[in-house]
Amino acid sequence: MKKSIAIIGGGSAALMLAAQLDENKFDVTIYERNAAVGRKFLVAGDGGFNLTHSEELEKFISRYTPSDFLKNSISSFTNENLREWFSKIGIETFVGSSKRVFPIEGIKPIDVLNAILTELKRKNVVIKTNHTWQGFEDSSFKADITIYALGGSSWKVTGSDGSWTNYFSEKGIEVLPFQASNCAYEVKWKEEFKSLAEGKTLKNIAIKCDAKERKGELVITKFGLEGGAIYALSPKIRSHLNDDDFATVYLDLKPSLSLEQIRDKFSARGNRSIKKLLIDRLNFDDTQIELLKTLLSKDDFTYLEDLAKNIKNLPITITSAAPIDEAISTVGGISLNEVDANFQLKKIPNNYCIGEMLDWDAPTGGYLLQGCFSMGYCLAQHLNNN
Ligand SMILES: Cc1cc2nc3c(=O)[nH]c(=O)nc-3n(C[C@H](O)[C@H](O)[C@H](O)COP(=O)(O)OP(=O)(O)OC[C@H]3O[C@@H](n4cnc5c(N)ncnc54)[C@H](O)[C@@H]3O)c2cc1C
Repeated sequence: MKKSIAIIGGGSAALMLAAQLDENKFDVTIYERNAAVGRKFLVAGDGGFNLTHSEELEKFISRYTPSDFLKNSISSFTNENLREWFSKIGIETFVGSSKRVFPIEGIKPIDVLNAILTELKRKNVVIKTNHTWQGFEDSSFKADITIYALGGSSWKVTGSDGSWTNYFSEKGIEVLPFQASNCAYEVKWKEEFKSLAEGKTLKNIAIKCDAKERKGELVITKFGLEGGAIYALSPKIRSHLNDDDFATVYLDLKPSLSLEQIRDKFSARGNRSIKKLLIDRLNFDDTQIELLKTLLSKDDFTYLEDLAKNIKNLPITITSAAPIDEAISTVGGISLNEVDANFQLKKIPNNYCIGEMLDWDAPTGGYLLQGCFSMGYCLAQHLNNN
């Protein structure tokens, strides 16, 4: 006789899990509080739907915090496997210039979701929308096996609001407070700089917090800084903000040149002003120059040795993270100590948790979705084979 599986929450992790479960062994029902599944999946698709990243496996796995938590899942269902699976359900993908993986032109996020839903229909997965799980005593969700895929706690409008935490705490399960990740960070810019630089992009930079460095782009906003490069430093920045209420990041405005090469470029200055020197020799634009001016003392900006050093290692003080609801993802949620290697709750057998509701972190760039998909895939394999 088939066993019943209840999947609570209808996001990326849940959809992949349902798509991989053996329909000959299980009757699968997804319960979703919203009128439709996959809302956050669709939001993630706005402005570039990067489903995964094409990076080689070892490096890929190193992007996760903690990196060993998802090692088995990602190795069992890799970025390549994900692309093959999407291709099988009619969604072809391509690798963009940033090495991120996107659906090919003409395929919209809703088409990707519909292709997954068609696959679920083929596998007789039942989807019950407008069903809000209200705790372990809620008998309307009873099944032989229950899997929670309730998401994190940002973009509450998508249904992922973290309102489920008490149900788990009441069972003695450790739930960590949610915190923003992959979010903008506050820099207390001077008013004059804000009016000059708001909305401007710093391209081809590298940014560092402790020993972690990321190359890419940054956008200067009224609030501070945002963009892929700084998002990737979220775990380090968060740790400093938690401990000290501030974090210092170091910007390299010219990663393609060494300090020595910058010194060389500054030699034979002639009668150029500093601004003219930066434009002529380093090809700097107004935003880069204004950034140096606003952050450096007059002496540091005019003394070429200090200027060169700061171009390679410009300290910027971060004073807070953006509000949690605006973050692309959250950390916190169910402590990883509470689940076994197959994501089963150690305290409640036959109950599992997957996806962003668990306390792990990854940068944007496809790593979050891949993490959720890989967990869904691996849990399905575990259940299919036991
Ligand atoms: C703006 C934005 C852009 C993003 N861009 C990217 C990107 O480019 N690449 C990338 O890899 N990732 C991206 N992400 C992150 C990615 O979308 C998420 O990490 C991922 O969707 C999380 O999947 P999940 O299945 O764990 O949870 P979710 O997709 O959040 O799904 C959880 C579901 O559970 C439901 N639910 C919650 N509580 C209950 C309840 N009590 N009863 C019933 N149902 C409930 C919710 O309504 C929701 O549908 C982005 C996220 C955002 C917000």
